[in-house]
This record gives sequence, structure tokens and C-alpha cells, in this order.
Amino acid sequence: MGSMGKVLGVGLVVGCAVAMCVVAGTMVGKRVKSRRRWTKVVKVLEEFEEGCATPVEKLRQVVDAMAVEMHAGLASEGGSKLKMLLTFVQNLPNGSEKGVYYGLDLGGTNFRVLRVQLGGQRSAILEPGVERQPIPEHLMTSTSEELFDFIAASLQKFVEKEGNGSVALEGKLRELGFTFSFPMKQASVSSGILIKWTKGFSIHDTVGKDVSECLNQALERRGLDMRVAVLINDTVGTLALGHYHDEDTVAAVIIGTGTNACYLERSDDIIKCQGLLTTSGAMVVNMEWGNFWSSHLPRTSYDIELDSESPNPNDQGFEKMISGMYLGDIVRRVILKMSQESDVFGLSFSKLLTPFILRSPLIAAMHEDDSPDLREVARILGEILEIGDVPLKVRKLVVKVCDVVTRRAARLAAAGIVGILKKMGRDGSGSTASGKVKGGSHTKMRRTVVAIEGALYTSYTLFREYLNDAIADILGEDISSHVVLKVMEDGSGMGAAVLAAAYSSSGQDTL
Ligand code: ADP
Ligand code: MG
Repeated sequence: MGSMGKVLGVGLVVGCAVAMCVVAGTMVGKRVKSRRRWTKVVKVLEEFEEGCATPVEKLRQVVDAMAVEMHAGLASEGGSKLKMLLTFVQNLPNGSEKGVYYGLDLGGTNFRVLRVQLGGQRSAILEPGVERQPIPEHLMTSTSEELFDFIAASLQKFVEKEGNGSVALEGKLRELGFTFSFPMKQASVSSGILIKWTKGFSIHDTVGKDVSECLNQALERRGLDMRVAVLINDTVGTLALGHYHDEDTVAAVIIGTGTNACYLERSDDIIKCQGLLTTSGAMVVNMEWGNFWSSHLPRTSYDIELDSESPNPNDQGFEKMISGMYLGDIVRRVILKMSQESDVFGLSFSKLLTPFILRSPLIAAMHEDDSPDLREVARILGEILEIGDVPLKVRKLVVKVCDVVTRRAARLAAAGIVGILKKMGRDGSGSTASGKVKGGSHTKMRRTVVAIEGALYTSYTLFREYLNDAIADILGEDISSHVVLKVMEDGSGMGAAVLAAAYSSSGQDTL
């Protein structure tokens, strides 16, 4: 009995030891598996980061490609993916403008009606009246007449609110600058034919029509004493306002829902329409740079998928790597890939399959979360993507993805800007003296101002810092100290009103 008991006892002990070994074995197995999965996730990030790399040498290649494409787009119609559209803006505001003018901004998410009062001598634009409203969605796909009637009605309400203080002079129409940020073919500064709608608008009977004429007719139908004096896009408005405040302003960039740029070009360099251009020797060219493409752009499989699933594949390639409409969706695609490679985001990630669920303000909020436990990241993952209980190290990974996407976007936009400066001979390189002025015994760089607008630059601090740093990286501290990026708040609409002033008063200085 005694020995039996002993044997039994030993047997029990042995049995327990075996069981414990099995438990320990599974735990080690789990840990090994989870480490392997973590390695996989990290690998997704590392490969993505590598694909997005923008060392300064690469940025310089993008700069060169941009300048080359600008030349090609100016040489012939269809010569480049850059359309390099003529705007017929040959005079920019110089500060001498006087009077009351109106502006209308249609083309982004919001629609703006505004008024400026100018007193000459680069007067401050005091208490400009600005009214913002979203475009009613049904109008985006209605008829031309309905859309322009809505715009005219908004203008009428705006003017009526002013009271009698600003009645137009007897027999004179009030002048309006119309910012219409869709591709147009222009033959004068006050008219333009709509080539195609973008950004969710689709009104078939406007395509091929003169947009100014459409608005003028709607104004007439309402008996409003107003007419379109200039028809421009948002980049041109921003350049005009920039030049009103500072005559060294020679280019403008928009980085908001979409991205685009314009700049002042010498008429002689606009080869594709020699003879068309007369008075001032220069014209603002609307680059439509969102459509820029170069093999030097750092493109990943996520970009390729985003493009092929978009309504406009092979179109707007530069824009799809840079602007607010797309940043969040690149981030989403990378996180989705991570969630498919492992269970670091848990097992339910269906929300991650929803295109465009992550908007760029959310990317900014996660990226700029400075709480030690990344509370904002956890909140957004939980509330928007319905992924709960994400460990800190995974939250850090998400922040890193936002960083990689935003940094690449900002640095590419910077390369685009330097590309314009290079084309203008203002990047400090090249043998042409156009960007330099003789200053005593040595040549000095000319001060160059680039007007900039759009919420990505103005509201996303890390984006702005990356962009500014990249310009310094590419140009070097010395030359970049002569390049100033100036934010033009509401520049696209305000600039239209100021440009209307420049085109209405007689005796304007030419460029
Ligand atoms: P629009 O381009 O429509 O004229 P904005 O210049 O205001 O208007 O840009 C709006 C775009 O900027 C949107 O795509 C929006 O997602 C993005 N955006 C707005 N605020 C922020 C922010 N704080 N951080 C990042 N992106 C933002
Ligand atoms: Mg805008």
C-alpha cells in the first residue's frame, strides 16, 4: 500500500509536470507566433517607408522633371501632362486699386461670396465681408440654369444686406471677380469655356459653354447690376492677392482638397501661342500641376491601387500623392494591409475596407497627438474604424504611417515649388541672370514670394513644417533664405475681387 502510494504519488507529480510543460510550450508558441506577426507588420511599415523615401537627391530629380514638363507644356498643346493653361491675366494688382469690388469663389467644398473695399496705396483690405456656405448637393448634378441661379441669388442676398451704402454709380455695373476652379479654355481674362467638371460636379449642359456668360445671364434674369470682370481659378486668385500685398509674389500654390499652382511666365516662353500675346510681356499660366507625372516620383503599391480604383485612373497622379482628398486613404490602405498580415488590430476590421473613411483632418489629429498614451489615436481608431483596445506600440505604428504619408506629400509639394522657381531662373542655379540682380561686386539672389493657400498647409502644422524644411533642404539655407512662402487667407476669392479692380481701373501699371 505504502509503495503503491509512493508510486501513485510519483505518477501524480510526473503527470503534473507534463501538463505544466504542455502549458508552457503553448505559451512559448504563442509568443513566438505573435512575435512573428509583429515582425510581419513592422515589415509592411518598413517596405512602405522605403517606397516613400524622398532623399534630397530624389527631390532634385523631381524638381528637374517639373521644370522639363513645364517647358514641354508651354511648347505645344498636349506636349506634357501639365496643361499649362493660359489665363490671359497679364496685369496683377499692384496696390493702387480703389473702390468696391465683389468676389465669388466656386470650386472647393464651400462657396464664398465676398466684397473688398480698396483705398489705393496697398491699403489693408478692411473688414472684408465674406460669406461661406456649402453648395447644396443636389445642385452639383442639376442643370446649368439652376446652379447659376443659385449663385446669382446668393449674390443678390449678399448685396441687399449691404443696404444703400454701396449702390453702383449711375449706369455703371458693379464688377465681379469669379473664381471658378475647374479646367477652362480661356480666350480672354473675362471668359472661359468649361472643359470638364471635376470634384463631384456633373452638369452636362455647362460643358462647352462660357461660364461668365452663364453667370451674367443669371444676374440679368434677377435684375442685378453686376457683371463678371474677370474669370479665374483659385491659384490665380491667390497669386493676385499675394501680388496686391507684395510685388515680389510671382507664383501661387493651393494645397487643399486638391492641389494646383500658377506662376508668372514671360510671353516669349509661351511658345505654343506666339503672336497671341501682346501688352505686358508676361502672363499668368495655370499649370494644373495635379496632373504632373514623373518616373522619379516615389510610388508604392498602395498608390497604384488607389489610382486604379479611383474614378479617374492615370489622371492627377501628383495630386493623389499630395492633396487632402487622398492622404487619409493612403494611410487607410497601409493599415488595412497590416491588419490583413496579422491580428494586431484585432479580428474585425471591416471599417478599414471603407474607402475614404479616414479624412485628412483625422490623419493630422493622430499625427499630432502628443499625449503620452496616444489617446487621440486610440479614440479615432475606436470611433471611426471601430477598432478597440489597440496596444500603445500599435498606436505608435499608426502615427508612423501618418508621418510617412504626410512627409512624402509635403516634400513632393516642396519639390514642385522649387521646380517652378527653377523654370523661372530663381532657384539660384543656372547661368541665366534672370533670377539674380547685380549687387555691388557680387550677384545677389532676388527675393521671391510664393503665395500659398489651402487647409493642408494652413491647418496641418507638421505638413507645413515638412514642406518648409524640404525647400531649405533642396535649395540650401543660403538660397532658400530669399524664398518666402506667404499664406493668403481666403486668397482665391479675395484675389478675384482685387483682380477685378485691377482690370477695371484705367491706367494700371503693366507687369
Ligand atoms: P478647398 O480645397 O475645398 O477649397 P480647403 O483649402 O479648406 O478647401 O481644404 C480642404 C481640405 O483640407 C480638405 O480635404 C480637408 O480634408 C483638408 N483639411 C482641412 N483641415 C485640415 C487639417 N486640420 N489637417 C489636415 N487636413 C485638413
Ligand atoms: Mg479653396
